[in-house]
Amino acid sequence: MRCVYDIVVIGGGPCGIATVVEAKANGFKNVLLLEKGDNHSQTIRKFYKDNKRVDKSYKGQDSTIHGIVGFDDGTKESTLDYFDELLDNNEIDTAFNSEVESVKKEDSGIFHITTSTAGYGAKNVVISIGKMGRPNKPSYKIPPSLNSVVNFNLDSCSSNEKIIVVGGGNSAAEYAVDLSERNDVTLNYRKDKFTRLNDINEAAVMALFNANKLNLKLGVDIEGLENESGKVKVIFTDGTSEIFDRIIYAIGGSTPVDFLQKCGVKLDADKDPIVDDDYESSVKGLYIGGDIVLKHGGSIVLALNHAHKVIQSIKDKGNI
Ligand SMILES: Cc1cc2nc3c(=O)[nH]c(=O)nc-3n(C[C@H](O)[C@H](O)[C@H](O)COP(=O)(O)OP(=O)(O)OC[C@H]3O[C@@H](n4cnc5c(N)ncnc54)[C@H](O)[C@@H]3O)c2cc1C
Repeated sequence: MRCVYDIVVIGGGPCGIATVVEAKANGFKNVLLLEKGDNHSQTIRKFYKDNKRVDKSYKGQDSTIHGIVGFDDGTKESTLDYFDELLDNNEIDTAFNSEVESVKKEDSGIFHITTSTAGYGAKNVVISIGKMGRPNKPSYKIPPSLNSVVNFNLDSCSSNEKIIVVGGGNSAAEYAVDLSERNDVTLNYRKDKFTRLNDINEAAVMALFNANKLNLKLGVDIEGLENESGKVKVIFTDGTSEIFDRIIYAIGGSTPVDFLQKCGVKLDADKDPIVDDDYESSVKGLYIGGDIVLKHGGSIVLALNHAHKVIQSIKDKGNI
């Protein structure tokens, strides 16, 4: 007989971790967290630069915490340590390297969750897989020969390179500020001025720009890339071009539509999942929380609050 969990949570980022912690605290006995990476919090591990400041109040979003999982300002490292402790102290059953491929509700009302190596049964399922598994890519074609120097995070960067960072959000600003310590960096944003930066990042960008330590190329978009002897030739929409050693796109992520459709979740006209006020999808008992359920942006605190609401909803419905 297969084990039927009270709840299986798919995706071990802030929302998934808070969901399993809240579930345990609310009397759910059999709780399982499935994470496709070899450890939890892949977005934080892969897309936050080392020693990044992690703000509780992020992008001006509401930072009031409603549930039992607290959160304070810190760094990438202290945030990962904190989530380690939450999983350890609450003795959460986790399965890493478990990429969920599909979730099907059987006639019995029990969900069957399939990974490439295992299957699980659950009374309730929460999908909290974020959006950064699919970082946004530009609309123009990237020449395959440039793949090693066209990046979506800082993993491949070293020093003394000429780098262009593309994007107008906090991730782009933080990447540019960090890289400019060791590289010749240009920050490119298609709009004339930054409208989405928090005060600290905007001040850091402008201070470096005023000290001639960071180049800004604002109000101009990129039309395409060409391979110029292994370097990236960036063609801008104003007819100019420039050659860089590396280009880094920090232009957000998008909803994994195929996965949600496979799970039977109804999507709206923008292909975002439709959920009610408790984050329950069109499939009863299947909840969706964190970045993936938001039209724009997202934050750790919002993800923690979604987790709280989901668990309260399941508890109120007596579905454990
Ligand atoms: C560069 C950057 C800087 C940021 N800085 C801040 C900040 O300072 N403060 C702040 O509050 N927010 C910040 N954010 C936003 C914050 O990281 C997100 O809002 C938050 O991580 C969302 O949590 P989540 O649990 O919804 O998704 P994620 O953190 O994206 O976690 C999703 C998890 O699901 C896993 N997964 C994906 N698909 C599957 C699958 N099929 N099966 C199993 N597992 C799967 C992924 O590997 C990942 O571990 C930042 C974001 C970025 C990109």
